[in-house]
Amino acid sequence: MTDQNKPMPIPDGDSNVFWQGCKENKLLIQKCSDCSKHIFYPRILCPNCFSEKIEWVESTGKGKVYSYTIARRGGGPAFKDDVPYAVALIQLDEGVRMFSNIINADVEEVKCDMAVEVVFVDSGEFTLPKFQPAGILK
Ligand SMILES: [Zn+2]
Repeated sequence: MTDQNKPMPIPDGDSNVFWQGCKENKLLIQKCSDCSKHIFYPRILCPNCFSEKIEWVESTGKGKVYSYTIARRGGGPAFKDDVPYAVALIQLDEGVRMFSNIINADVEEVKCDMAVEVVFVDSGEFTLPKFQPAGILK
């Protein structure tokens, strides 16, 4: 299977650190030094208190499924061999949410509040953070 025909991330000044972290198998999110809230997606101002004092921290990579959908027809030709697959909004233990896929699981067993953990998938130029049921072997 190749991911070469799939749309890939377009890093910018705010997200470069995140994608570099993924390459090193670290899930990096931001944290506000003033109000201590975690932040995702990457940005230059804290959305809670508008502070500019934002630092990068490593997430535990653990969280739960906040919401999800099962794609049965695929999001375009590049995804047609992947169906069915789960697209999920993951709520990390740090409180922020990110979109990803649930892999290494039967899509019929994906449920809201299911405990998941990050797993990094090398897709050539990029390493993508995906999630799998917590506690299974990688
Ligand atoms: Zn803040």
